[in-house]
Amino acid sequence: MPIALYDTRTRQKRDFRPANEQEVTMYLCGPTVYSYAHIGNFRPAVIFDVLFRLLRDKYGSDHVVYARNITDIDDKINAAAAAKGVDISVITDEFTKIYRDDSAALGILPPSMEPTATGHIPEMIDMISRLLANGNAYQAEGHVLFAVDSFEGYGKLSGRNLEDMLAGARVEVASYKRNPADFVLWKPSSETQPGWDSPFGRGRPGWHTECSAMIEAKLGTTIDIHAGGQDLIFPHHENEIAQSMCVHDNVPLARFWLHNGFLDMGEEKMSKSLGNVKLVHDLLNDWQGEVLRFALLSAHYRAPLSWTEELLSRSRTVLGRFYGTLRRLADVEAADESAPAGLIAALHDDLNTPQAMAKLSTLFKQANQATDLADKQKFKGQILASGKLLGLFAQDPESWFQDDAGSNNEDEPDIDALVKARFEARQAKDWAKADQLRDQLNELKIIVEDGPDGSIWRRS
Ligand code: AMP
Ligand code: ZN
Repeated sequence: MPIALYDTRTRQKRDFRPANEQEVTMYLCGPTVYSYAHIGNFRPAVIFDVLFRLLRDKYGSDHVVYARNITDIDDKINAAAAAKGVDISVITDEFTKIYRDDSAALGILPPSMEPTATGHIPEMIDMISRLLANGNAYQAEGHVLFAVDSFEGYGKLSGRNLEDMLAGARVEVASYKRNPADFVLWKPSSETQPGWDSPFGRGRPGWHTECSAMIEAKLGTTIDIHAGGQDLIFPHHENEIAQSMCVHDNVPLARFWLHNGFLDMGEEKMSKSLGNVKLVHDLLNDWQGEVLRFALLSAHYRAPLSWTEELLSRSRTVLGRFYGTLRRLADVEAADESAPAGLIAALHDDLNTPQAMAKLSTLFKQANQATDLADKQKFKGQILASGKLLGLFAQDPESWFQDDAGSNNEDEPDIDALVKARFEARQAKDWAKADQLRDQLNELKIIVEDGPDGSIWRRS
């Protein structure tokens, strides 16, 4: 069964076939490491991690090359470093580490490579020189600019004409630009700003140039999949295409362009000015990373996703139930199984994670109802294989319950301990104690479900 993916450029869902099955290539525009990343920043990282897992499953883990870059040259980084009076590497090292730690907490696999902008300055200078030589770029007031008029395909990805694009995005209008849509390939640095020597003077690259040069250096001329958030379609991806196609004789940069929808705060956008930005670093104080991941996967990646307290609680409850089943099956040896066909089909259908989660629910129901050992082994095997694809259930059930008892309810008594004590009282036929503990749990609005090997609980 081929994987069908919605391609932004052709505006249709198409069957994905890599150019070379031995080396499937994928690139995701990664974080700009100047501060903590928010939960919206992690939506592409999580969803394209699922795609990475699916591609590895299909083509073999050694045959998928996934690059997610680190943008470690940027004016926001310069500002953060200047404010602290430190070198930019102090800021970028710190936040690269934090980004990696947060990613691991969200169950995101390390990509095959994480190229950095600072590690590819000669490649960028070389690409800019070729653009100048081809007549696609010009120098003005210390800058090198890309001349959008020189590239016939400009605007094809976003499907908008130049006027619409300029109206819809903040593009810097500067007197030295021949066309207001021309974008910066290289800009001059002052004495105090970070800069690199180049044939165009001491300066630094523009953001768009970083990705084009890193893709060329690490993955080649045409990659299979290029991904990012929808806000990157214009100008960032449009500009990446313009640069790369102009230095590669009009050969396409990517065969598939994938873009995730935006995460918002229900009625509101998430923005600093509204003061409602949710940093993953902070969310992890209250919620397990797996809950955040589960919540991110609950909507289809191209649809908007409302990030609410209710979504988080619901995700936690469902995961708690799933882990309850896995705890009951702790002593059952998982059979060597694949994920169920329905779940695989859902993911093959443009990464339909909500449908995959529905299939997962059915699978857990089957596992709960199984009485036969062989069935329990089979369903447990299918659950773990599904978890591998979705990036779930990597932890031991006991560790889930331990962390869950400690998360988001610091003021509450240890519910796990109460539930366990009640279960033990019941087993010892100490009904008075069991009833007293149940009353206590009722007061805390905890619903307890008794199973043969223990009880699981959820909030009502
Ligand atoms: P940045 O570090 O700002 O370049 O963002 C990293 C990635 O996060 C980009 O692919 C953005 O498109 C994506 N992104 C930023 N904000 C959101 C959001 N609220 N919802 C979904 N994706 C987002
Ligand atoms: Zn990029």
